[in-house]
Amino acid sequence: MNWPKVIIRTSYRQARNLIKIMSGRQLMTPGLVSMTLDRDDIQLVKSILQNKSDWYDRTAVQKYEADFAHWNGSQYAYSFMAGRVALTACIQALGLMPGDEVILPGYTCVAVPNAFHFSGIKTVYCDIELDTYGLDASQIEQAITPKTRAILLHHLYGLVCRDYDAILSIARKHGLRVIEDCAHATGAKYRGINVGNRGDVAFYSSEQSKIFNTIQGGIAITNNAELANKIKEFYDNASYPDEAWIEKHLYNFTLNYLQNKHPQRWLLWDIAESLYGDKRLISTTKDEEMGICPEYYGRKMPAAIAIVANNQLKKIDSFNEVRRMTARRWDSWSERRGYKKPVVISDSVPVYLRYPLMVEQRSKQDTSRLKKELGVSIGVWFISNVHPAPAIVQGCPNADEAVRRCINLPCLLE
Ligand SMILES: *Cc1c(COP(=O)(O)O)cnc(C)c1O
Repeated sequence: MNWPKVIIRTSYRQARNLIKIMSGRQLMTPGLVSMTLDRDDIQLVKSILQNKSDWYDRTAVQKYEADFAHWNGSQYAYSFMAGRVALTACIQALGLMPGDEVILPGYTCVAVPNAFHFSGIKTVYCDIELDTYGLDASQIEQAITPKTRAILLHHLYGLVCRDYDAILSIARKHGLRVIEDCAHATGAKYRGINVGNRGDVAFYSSEQSKIFNTIQGGIAITNNAELANKIKEFYDNASYPDEAWIEKHLYNFTLNYLQNKHPQRWLLWDIAESLYGDKRLISTTKDEEMGICPEYYGRKMPAAIAIVANNQLKKIDSFNEVRRMTARRWDSWSERRGYKKPVVISDSVPVYLRYPLMVEQRSKQDTSRLKKELGVSIGVWFISNVHPAPAIVQGCPNADEAVRRCINLPCLLE
């Protein structure tokens, strides 16, 4: 460890904290990460670290999968080390082949098109609407070709997408499969049913910026027995991360908690960074952003992580309730400021992973004024059409506008 560097950084930051205290300013700006890890999760992690022999216990994983499926109202669930891997399982289960085409929103996370490209499938981008940032149903049919096999829809920021019904009926009309990207929307409901259950397959993410947090992780669901068998085939062929990876991963829980949630994080963060900083995992490497498949791709979730996932699962509903309460505060602020609020479609319950808002382009380019006014960190997802990778997506003017002007506000403040 580079002690001189650690000491200099810690002294500098604590001097700044002292100035903040003396001038009566808040110590920490509420951040954008999903602060859903609590002391009990960290206790659990400690005991897992001491019980190495249970790290690959299949029954603990099955319990998480069964509990998730039950909570989500789904028949089958399979857990992986990332949402993008769960998506890959869905792609394989649907039997999509090299040369096939899939339609997806021109406003997405780079991990999504990558999953298709890694399987040799061509991605065709379609524009979004600016009410809920979902696929615009009126743009889909013109993108369908004889090679189109599937549509991927998403529920971004935790909002149930405006054209949910319409997209499903277009897919039915053209004999296309539907994949639901629920990475932002775990627990969101439409007509009393959790999103993800109306397409053929769906995936959820428990990456550390999402609704629930296992640092990295994802889960695929379906209600179709035949597709479930195919997901299971992929699952059975996938391997677990090795012990060294799992150990590193487990330290990331503590790191995340001390950085984002612990009441004394203004001090403990520095200490945690010095102790465990070298263990930090990166969700998307630069290479992966550029479309290179990492060696470490395609793993399934071992018990060591699934046990924490299951503990997080129990808290999703109460955290989502807090998110909705915070969103009401952003609603009234938006109204006062004359900004258009995100649309909550009728008979839907959103989960507000983040609160999206279209502001002037200059406020997205320089968020400092808004940060000062609101006292929270300002999110800039998505900074490109396939966030965060630079990529050219054509013919999606609404998506382009959202890239220029859509910011997001945190909904879990403490
Ligand atoms: C994060 C994200 C994913 C991928 O989830 P991972 O668990 O990070 O692989 C997919 N779609 C969207 C919209 C996301 O934000």
